[in-house]
Amino acid sequence: MTTVRTVLGDVDPARLGTCDAHDHLFFRSPALPGQELTDPAAAAAELRAFAAAGGGSVVQWSPVGTDRRADALIRLSRRTGVQVIAATGLHQAAHTDPAVLDRVRGRLTELFVAELTEGIRAGDDPDAAPLPARAGLIKVAGDFHALSAHARASMTAAAEAHHATGAPIAVHHEAGTAAPEVLDLLCGRLGVPADRVVLGHLNRCPDLRMQRDVAASGAYLAFDGPSRAQQATDWRLLDTLTELAAAGHARQLLVGGDTTTAAARASTGGGPGMPFLLRVLRPRIEHALGAAVTADIFVANPARAYAVDWRR
Ligand SMILES: [Zn+2]
Repeated sequence: MTTVRTVLGDVDPARLGTCDAHDHLFFRSPALPGQELTDPAAAAAELRAFAAAGGGSVVQWSPVGTDRRADALIRLSRRTGVQVIAATGLHQAAHTDPAVLDRVRGRLTELFVAELTEGIRAGDDPDAAPLPARAGLIKVAGDFHALSAHARASMTAAAEAHHATGAPIAVHHEAGTAAPEVLDLLCGRLGVPADRVVLGHLNRCPDLRMQRDVAASGAYLAFDGPSRAQQATDWRLLDTLTELAAAGHARQLLVGGDTTTAAARASTGGGPGMPFLLRVLRPRIEHALGAAVTADIFVANPARAYAVDWRR
């Protein structure tokens, strides 16, 4: 049976509802000091604002070593009614707690599989007891127009964990680059089916030919922002989605808020936050692409992208 693995258990993909396909309720990066998402009350306020705008589910792309708070995600999901899908996996070294990185190096596949099938490890310690929330996806990250040894090791472990479990792999692309290299590695060399891969941040490199090329693989394309740093590319989003839909890729498109800093939150930071997706972006997408494609992007596509016939 095909299900989406939320922090409260496996659910029928048809019950996912309107989905923010890439966001963060908790996130801590050594590269973003002072901007940590660590406050459960602020996360709850953001989730409630998202739910009030019609949101049904959120996929948190915070992997091992970024202070994911799986235990708090369980409480928040119960309290707000929003379904939350948590990640295992590994970000760039620059975004990962160095102590955690030391602890998990060489044990990535084992850790990813354990978090997907048994439960996320407290304190990101592979030897800790599992928390009562399992991960539903594997998040990894490339680099700027390149894949470092760290990225290759993370992606190799992600592919092995995919083969063991069926879990989808979601990829951070630095400034939207290196997606062809990621597909070569994950799908070409490591045998992951392209429709089990979500390519993130493609909006940050608004190169339509590249986007069409990677879409031809069958992978999902996540357009996840906005942020102050992306103003130069945000304005191309509607045209990009329109072009990709016209090229036959409407069923591969995803959108997400990707709120990574406290200042970007709507409810407590005065930023666009999670509600922006539904209050501002969704009507614009509907106007440009029509109701059917909009329903694909917000409901049907994430349900398909994150649904798994779990092997374990
Ligand atoms: Zn993100």
